[in-house]
Amino acid sequence: MNTQCDLAGPVKKIVVVGGGTAGWMSAATISKTLGKSVDVTLIESDAIPTIGVGEATIPTLMSLHQLIGINEQEFVKAVNGTFKLGISFESWRDVGEDYIHSFGSTGKDCWAAGFQHFWVKAMQDSGAKEYGQYCSELVAAQQNKFAITPKHGLNYAYHIDAGLYAAFLREFAESNGATRVEGKVVNVNLDQRSGFIHSVSLESGKEVVGDLFIDCSGFRGLLIEQALHTGYDDWSHWLPCDSAIAVQTEALEEPIPYTRSIARESGWQWRIPLQTRVGNGLVFCGRYMSDDEAIGTLLDNIEGETLNDPRVIKFTTGTRRKHWNKNCIAIGLSSGFIEPLESTSIHLIQRSITRLMQMFPHNGIVEADINEFNHQMASEIDNIRDFIVLHYHVTNRQDSAFWRHCSTMRIPDSLQHRIDLFRETGRVFKVPTELFGENSWVQVMIGQGLVPRDFHPIVNMMSKTELTSFMQTIDQNVQGLVTQLPSHSEFIRHYCQSQQSMEMEKLANG
Ligand code: FAD
Repeated sequence: MNTQCDLAGPVKKIVVVGGGTAGWMSAATISKTLGKSVDVTLIESDAIPTIGVGEATIPTLMSLHQLIGINEQEFVKAVNGTFKLGISFESWRDVGEDYIHSFGSTGKDCWAAGFQHFWVKAMQDSGAKEYGQYCSELVAAQQNKFAITPKHGLNYAYHIDAGLYAAFLREFAESNGATRVEGKVVNVNLDQRSGFIHSVSLESGKEVVGDLFIDCSGFRGLLIEQALHTGYDDWSHWLPCDSAIAVQTEALEEPIPYTRSIARESGWQWRIPLQTRVGNGLVFCGRYMSDDEAIGTLLDNIEGETLNDPRVIKFTTGTRRKHWNKNCIAIGLSSGFIEPLESTSIHLIQRSITRLMQMFPHNGIVEADINEFNHQMASEIDNIRDFIVLHYHVTNRQDSAFWRHCSTMRIPDSLQHRIDLFRETGRVFKVPTELFGENSWVQVMIGQGLVPRDFHPIVNMMSKTELTSFMQTIDQNVQGLVTQLPSHSEFIRHYCQSQQSMEMEKLANG
């Protein structure tokens, strides 16, 4: 059913405002997939810097790249990239206690019960290894090993230089017909009758007219909030961190194939290794730590010369009430920000873009599309939020006011249910549309110190000897695979060099 909100005409002109990761990912994908039927214009201001962080990804990025035909070797080389097998959570469960949330699957599930049930029984019987030791990605990460292998391949993501990634995507988008306009948007002009965005005016006086506007202007939400007043759901009662300090350092050692997340007194520190430098930052809660204290804490805990001055970034965790409002879709930080803890922002950018492509309103914007888009985004984001809150809430840390607050704060009912279910029964169920699978939930719950009290009775179908042998076989397979892998840095050298030789060959062959 059409409503008064509908835009009658077909969507032919798409205007993207903002040239950070979100803007260029949007322009690259739309120009590549729909470039023959729509015009894509991206406006960015050289005077307004991008956020300059957002350098850890999750494996889903690869599927977007495959979809639009980005060559992986060219990409890794262009973005100073390294490979990521997971995140090492250090001192999260308690000071000095670490675990890795890896991208792999752990052990072997059976149809009725996940591997954690077998592991719990094995631990009770005779002592098994730590849960994560039955996962190839995790053991490879611990041993600094990595390779892309077609058979029994590791599940991986990337660490990237955000600025280089935007530049890489810009070239890609422009080569597919997207037009870049440099300039500062100073006014958003609404159609008086419909309230839709008609155009944006630039400082230069130029006016850019569009049918569909994509707001990638970052936290300021120039279109979605400042012009359309969409509203924001604040989640700081569940995710209290509201500030970050970011600084880059030179690389002193070979890059490791995982992100480090080190819990500190009032937040946590990230360490993202690129080929030639390291991205560092401290996410913290301003209620418990001042900016100056945070800068001091970060600078005391980094290695190598700093390459820039520490930058303070302020944010409010939460989500825009509608990601799609009238003829404007907010993608990236303009749509909200959960937390960088599990590197989910770039993934959500990708999900918004692919969702828009699937629901592209080529014949005009209808309210039903808008509602469906917003419903799907909200449900995906709520589940990610719960997963992130889990890390803060389930902890034994009581050593600071921040951690005491996190461990006792009220959490969403949906998360409380998952925690109770796992604690009592060992069971985890993935919501069909959610990002993180059962194994991610299990890794983090066990990693944070939540061990199930019970296991599924199907495990008792194995004798003690059979269970021991089952666990040993998995362990041997994991060790066998990891032993064959080269070191992470050796692999990168080879991978990027062979890219160079491919390019030389291309040149030589004209
Ligand atoms: P921005 O990078 O802020 O870009 C905004 C763009 O809008 C700029 O080009 C600017 O010039 C333009 N603009 C603004 N106003 C105007 C105007 N008036 N006229 C014209 N142009 C304008 N995500 C991950 O996936 N992994 C991570 O590890 C991760 N770590 C993070 C750590 C921190 C501390 C923070 C805050 C975020 C992190 N994120 C991470 C999120 C990630 O940084 C963002 O999702 C991503 O960079 C996209 O940002 P953006 O493009 O939406 O905004």
